[in-house]
Order: sequence, then C-alpha cells, then structure tokens
Amino acid sequence: MEIAPVSNPAMDEDARHEICGLGQQGIWITSVEALYNWGRGNSLWPLGFGLACCAIEMIAASMARFDLARFGAEVFRPSPRQADLMIVAGTVTKKMAPQVVRLYHQMPEPKYVIAMGACAISGGPFKQGYNVLKGIDRYLPVDVHIPGCPPRPEALIHGLMDLQRIIAQQKLTGPGRPRHLRADAPAESAVPQHGPHDLEPPFDRALWRPPVLPREE
Ligand code: SF4
Repeated sequence: MEIAPVSNPAMDEDARHEICGLGQQGIWITSVEALYNWGRGNSLWPLGFGLACCAIEMIAASMARFDLARFGAEVFRPSPRQADLMIVAGTVTKKMAPQVVRLYHQMPEPKYVIAMGACAISGGPFKQGYNVLKGIDRYLPVDVHIPGCPPRPEALIHGLMDLQRIIAQQKLTGPGRPRHLRADAPAESAVPQHGPHDLEPPFDRALWRPPVLPREE
C-alpha cells in the first residue's frame, strides 16, 4: 500500500525532484492528516449484522470470490464496541429500527454508515408498508448510499471505495472537520421508541427533514 506524498502546487521543481529521489530510496514524506486518513480508510471494521436479502450480498462480498479483505474491511466484528462501519444491509422494519440506532450509538467514533440497497435507502419495495422505515437516514448520518435491489457485491465494494475517498479528503482541523472532531457536534442521535401509531420521534430533526412539496393551485 502506497502513502500518497504531499502534493503542493507551490513546490518548486528542485524540491519535487528531491522528494521523488527520497521516494526511490524508500523514504516518503507525507502529512499527519494524509497518514491518519489513510490508516482509518484502509482499516474499516464493519459491524457483523444483516437485516434481509441485501445481507446475503454483503456476506458474498466478504467471501473468497469478491474478497473484501483486499480493501482492509474483512474484519466483521460481532460487537459494536469494536466496529467503526455500520453497513445497513436490508429492510429496516419499525420494530427493528430502535435496535439498529442503539447499535450505532454503541460504536466508538470515528464511525461511518453505508445504506446498502433500496430498502435501507427508502423502504424499497416495502415503502408503502405500514411497518417499514422509509430510509435509515431518518435516524443515522448515512455517508454512502448504494442503490439496487439487491446491489451486487461489486456495488458494495464500490461503495466502500467511495467511503475511503470521503475519509481521505477529511480535514483534521478547521471548520470542515468531521463530526468526531467537533466538540459542538451532538454525540448521539435520537433513539426511536414504539409509540401508539408510529415511531416516536418519526425522524431525527438534526439529520433529516421531510421534503417540502409545492402544492398545485
Ligand atoms: S433492497 Fe431488495 S434485496 Fe435488498 S433487502 Fe430490500 S428487497 Fe431485499
């Protein structure tokens, strides 16, 4: 695995040659930020759980034919305390939603969420069902959405690479730094409860708002 050297457009030609020469001798110059992001992006540990048919594709992605291990994400952890990636693979029923959110809360920061498949994104073919959540992004901050019913293992690998790209671009300082480095960011989102008619609250206001549809006159 190669650590990208710092790319500085202001660097003059002599300095560039010098750094290339050091690289040929096995010496790499990089920034703490690039090294930190490289380490996080290439050692994602997914939480080992699945909700429906999409989970079969997720399992296939981790087996020998598709070999998710090539991307540093083969260590599926049975405990949320040891996982930093939640792959929501399958239909999230309203009965299951509080448990999924609670598992997310039990994962340590920095942590990431992939919504895998139409069900996790929007409810999928069960969208009109009274018992199915119309998208896990109502309660969790989803980093990558993978469409499909089901998405193939290659699509999950593509989504994982998208997440690695997002992590590689994160700043450690400044206003654009991610949630886990911001003291003012809320530590937890709402855990829904089963109310008399629906989940309470029906969504986390800090994460999701219903779309405003213009009414036709
Ligand atoms: S998106 Fe399709 S394949 Fe995936 S859990 Fe829903 S119904 Fe099953």
